[in-house]
Amino acid sequence: TARKRFGQNFLTDSNVINRIVGAIAPDNDHVMVEIGPGLAALTEPVAESIDKLTVVELDKDLVERLKTHPFLKDKLDIHQGDALKFDFNQLVEEGKQMKVFGNLPYNISTPLMFHLFEFAEHIENMHFMLQKEVVLRLSASPGTKAYGRLTVMAQYFCQVMPVLEVPPGCFTPPPKVDSAVVRLVPYKQKPWPCKDVDLLRHLCTTAFNMRRKTLRNNLKQMLTDDDFKLLNIDSTKRPEQISVEQYVAMANLVFDKKSS
Ligand code: SAM
Repeated sequence: TARKRFGQNFLTDSNVINRIVGAIAPDNDHVMVEIGPGLAALTEPVAESIDKLTVVELDKDLVERLKTHPFLKDKLDIHQGDALKFDFNQLVEEGKQMKVFGNLPYNISTPLMFHLFEFAEHIENMHFMLQKEVVLRLSASPGTKAYGRLTVMAQYFCQVMPVLEVPPGCFTPPPKVDSAVVRLVPYKQKPWPCKDVDLLRHLCTTAFNMRRKTLRNNLKQMLTDDDFKLLNIDSTKRPEQISVEQYVAMANLVFDKKSS
């Protein structure tokens, strides 16, 4: 039976499974990595057309099942453990980029996104089943309610494309929320390079801390009125009205001030 503590909602709709596998486009030229394979709803059809699939699964019982799976056992490289703590650099193979995918446990999806962004330079693309609301946040435009810290960080690292919406009935047991699949493609060449990503993350957290306050108010510890003038950013705007490019410009100015 599915375990609530591991966020286990298993995909059972074959039409949805086919569409996701089509979007992933498994191949042997990439290191293919699945997070949370569970009962192998995606694992089986993905592994079918390739030689090797690496999986990271927390649940020891499910890992045991995968190890003895009749046709998967020879193809899987199984890592039992927490994907949030997993060092994806250990999977890097000479000359190969990773394709990462999974129907994620929704309770860890935001921290997992932030964790995976750290390995973005080794990732060709990612396909994740997420809570629909999280997909809306990842792909949001400035000026909308869904636009926030997660949006800015995701769009700093990746091009974000919603792929399909998935209703609760496609899972067993059905989750309480609507789901959606998102495609994230890390930039090979960042459109707005940032000098210190930790600083950008910190600045975003601070800026969005009080969504109804102005940028100036939220960031007064980090940026002065003169700084905003220099950047040509209207500091009376709300945090959700500021573009990713402008967030990067702010972080870079804070960095320059610290290092001068
Ligand atoms: N991929 C399967 C499917 O689509 O039917 C299972 C999806 S289920 C929503 C999430 C899976 O992630 C479960 O197998 C669960 O045990 C596993 N999981 C939960 N937390 C995890 C973590 N921190 N690291 C790795 N796997 C985790």
